[in-house]
This record gives sequence, structure tokens and C-alpha cells, in this order.
Amino acid sequence: MNRLIIVANWKMNGTVSETLKMITELSHRLEKQTIAEVVIAPPFTSLYSAQIVLQETSFKLAAQNCHWEHEGAYTGEVSPDFLREIGCSHVIVGHSERRRYFGETDEMVGRKIQTALASELTPIFCIGETKEERSSGRTEVVLEQQIKKGLQGLPMGDIKDLIIAYEPVWAIGTGETAAQEQIEKEHSYIRNLIARAYDAPTANRIPLLYGGSVNSDNIKKIVETRNVDGVLVGGASLSLEKFVKMIRLAESREVH
Ligand code: PEP
Repeated sequence: MNRLIIVANWKMNGTVSETLKMITELSHRLEKQTIAEVVIAPPFTSLYSAQIVLQETSFKLAAQNCHWEHEGAYTGEVSPDFLREIGCSHVIVGHSERRRYFGETDEMVGRKIQTALASELTPIFCIGETKEERSSGRTEVVLEQQIKKGLQGLPMGDIKDLIIAYEPVWAIGTGETAAQEQIEKEHSYIRNLIARAYDAPTANRIPLLYGGSVNSDNIKKIVETRNVDGVLVGGASLSLEKFVKMIRLAESREVH
């Protein structure tokens, strides 16, 4: 069984002072938490100050995106090297909102993964099907394409530093969560794809997270699902009370 990982994606929410207040309170409330690896992804503008508070805690810091080059004429973009320099350990790559609103393709996502790894960041590689793709029976074709292109050319030695988040697009921010059987099926499909492309021990070591309307009512069941190593939480992680409760519930998971 892999370690339990809980990622909070705060998206474009929170000023610097709001972010600092939230993580300070979170660290006080979770002082005794030792089981889950909690990764916080605030907006870019808060990362530097957040790192100063987080370095006193066991929490990890993630950016929500990065560029696929280390430096250059890319106005408005952020290099993974800069993120590493200010204390990020993780970066979310290929989130469906980036794919949908900013035209990120599987190829771009693949390049970002490689550059992030070269910058010693752990990519949290997001994949998932839309509602139309699911209803037309194409879920696994889509997942396979996203994984193949996202991991193209990635050597065996590098893939061990990767986290994959299965996030059905139709479940993100909608209140609609995938059924436990669906999550289990897609996670084992993803695990098998990685095992075929690399090998079984490598595939088993890669943490697979589920994301999509995770909340305090469903988190325990989700983290108790076979092949689920944790969750990526958006909306519900913006409330201190809800997020603390969710972490505690996840930590009480019973895995058979
Ligand atoms: C997300 O942002 O990746 C996400 C899963 O959001 P939510 O939990 O709000 O569905």
C-alpha cells in the first residue's frame, strides 16, 4: 500500500494574506497529523510567502502549473526552476481547466512533465475523460492517449517521481462524484497501462489520486477504494473546517 496523499488545489482563490491565514490555521489544527502527506497548491502569487510558513510544517507546496521550458521569451509564464527555487516540491500538470480554457494539449503536458522532473519537482499529472467521452464509451481510449502522450519518452528512472491524478472532467466542481466501481476500474486500468509501458513494481509504486467533487461525505469510501492512494481536492479544500475533517476521515481509512 502506498502512502496516503491529499492535495488541495485552491485554483484562482485567495490573496496572499488569505492564503497565509489558511495555512497557518491548518498547520495549527493538524499539528498532530502524521499519516497523510498533505500538499497545498495556492495561486502563484502566494507561493513564496506560503513556503516560509510551510517549511515549519510537514506540508508540501505545489504550484498549479508551470512552463515546459526552463527559461526564455515566454511572457507571463513560470519556469519550474523558479518554482523549485522558492520551495515548491510538486507541480500540478495538465489539469482539465488548463486543457479546456488554455488549450493545453497532451504534447504540452508531456513536455511540462519532463521539464518539471528535470527541475526536481514531482509532477501531479492530471488525466480524465469528459462526459461525452464517457457516454460514448471512450473513457479508456482517452486515458490511454493522455498517458501515452504525457509519458512519451520518459525513462523508467524518472517515472517513479510522478503522481497521477484521475479526474473525470464531469466530476470536477460539479458535485457529481464517480462511483466507487468506476474509480476502481479506471485506477486499475491506469495501473495496468503503466505496468505494460514500464513494469509492475514501477506501476505499483506510482501514487494514483482521485479528484472530482471529493468532500467529507465521500472521502473515506474513496480512499478505501482499491488502487486509490489519495485525493486531489478543489472546492472543499477552501474551507478550513471541511478540509481538516476530510483529512481526519481519510486518515481513518481501513484498507484490506
Ligand atoms: C480539482 O480542482 O482538481 C477538483 C477536483 O476540484 P473539485 O474538488 O472542486 O471538484
